[in-house]
Amino acid sequence: MQHGSDILIIGGGVIGLSTALRLAGQDVSVTVVDRQRVGAEASWAGAGMLPPGDLATAKTPEARLRSYSYDMWEPFCAQLRELSGMDNGYRKCGAVEVGLDSAAFDLQVRQWQAEGLCCDPLDRAELERHVPGLQQQIQHGVFLPEFAQVRNPRHLKALTAACQAMGVEILEDVGHLSVCAKGRAVEVTTPLRRLGADRVCVTAGAWTGQIMKPLGVELPVAPVRGQIALLRVSQLPFSCVIEQGRRYIVPRADGLILVGSTQEHVGFEKRSTAEGVSGLLSFAESIVPELGAAEVVRCWAGLRPGSPDELPFIGRVPGYDNMFVGAGHFRSGLQMSPATAAVLTDLMLDRTPAISLDGLDPTRVTKPLVI
Ligand SMILES: Cc1cc2nc3c(=O)[nH]c(=O)nc-3n(C[C@H](O)[C@H](O)[C@H](O)COP(=O)(O)OP(=O)(O)OC[C@H]3O[C@@H](n4cnc5c(N)ncnc54)[C@H](O)[C@@H]3O)c2cc1C
Repeated sequence: MQHGSDILIIGGGVIGLSTALRLAGQDVSVTVVDRQRVGAEASWAGAGMLPPGDLATAKTPEARLRSYSYDMWEPFCAQLRELSGMDNGYRKCGAVEVGLDSAAFDLQVRQWQAEGLCCDPLDRAELERHVPGLQQQIQHGVFLPEFAQVRNPRHLKALTAACQAMGVEILEDVGHLSVCAKGRAVEVTTPLRRLGADRVCVTAGAWTGQIMKPLGVELPVAPVRGQIALLRVSQLPFSCVIEQGRRYIVPRADGLILVGSTQEHVGFEKRSTAEGVSGLLSFAESIVPELGAAEVVRCWAGLRPGSPDELPFIGRVPGYDNMFVGAGHFRSGLQMSPATAAVLTDLMLDRTPAISLDGLDPTRVTKPLVI
């Protein structure tokens, strides 16, 4: 049996679903196909931190995507609420960055200031006001008042419902999907049917490279495991995110606290480990000692789609006329999802994206494979 739509999106994580929703708003027929339930991989597992940006001063590909996205989050969440009737937990909670390695810390603060971000240096007394009970040895930090967060599982549910409300067809648990080259075009089939579409967009997260390989395209997207421990306290001691380098504590409004995360190159292995979890618990206690008494609710891990330069690949797949990709967002796929969806939509509808894609093109490190 043949099935057809204007655009077929392979992979229903936050990137695929956000892109589908954006396209559906342009009167395009869209199908999202996933080998399992949509929204159940990295996008579900993440912490939902949304750091601020300023598009006017953004100079790097990372800053451009981050700030273009940041400006969209608030209206995007309002649109989701309207379409789905669900609240994804978006809120501007602020973040305190605490630094024990002062050289790296100073560099980070200088970068924020150069970007024109609102960031207030804090002495010990001010730190205590944001985070009562902060470990005594931490004497300085910086507050980013614009920092926001979203609750991933709720966001994914709202996105899925909004897509459905806009007429996006979502095909889940389709089994093995095969993507074959037919000249300069690709064809997608499942065990049950051929999925016809004018354009195909691959947003399969850490699995994207596997889909590309049989097509003779080597896209270096690799899984990077991140573990999270979820704690509960009866009364939240603080309401802002606390970050120290690549580790963080994210309080939700209902007393749950996410502690993340590890960064491990262990292939497609998603288990939580004793070493990973105990490291996270020690980290939380070392920052706010009273978290040592918090209840451990559960632990999980997700596979970030890593890339060699930690930047996503967004654009037309080299060698093909009808195939596009949006993958490799590594630690920033949630925050960058609105901008990625906007850019992919523009590219697939032959329009010029609002931001430069320099540094994000899939050709920058891909190479044809000899097969
Ligand atoms: C612990 C952790 C914390 C994080 N914290 C943050 C954060 O605070 N802020 C932030 O911005 N980012 C964060 N991230 C990163 C973010 O979660 C990812 O960058 C983002 O979710 C990637 O989205 P995606 O849609 O590309 O991939 P995924 O969410 O992994 O979705 C890929 C989809 O493709 C499907 N798929 C795979 N193979 C196939 C196939 N062959 N056929 C059909 N479908 C297929 C999968 O089933 C899945 O549904 C975190 C990640 C982790 C793991």
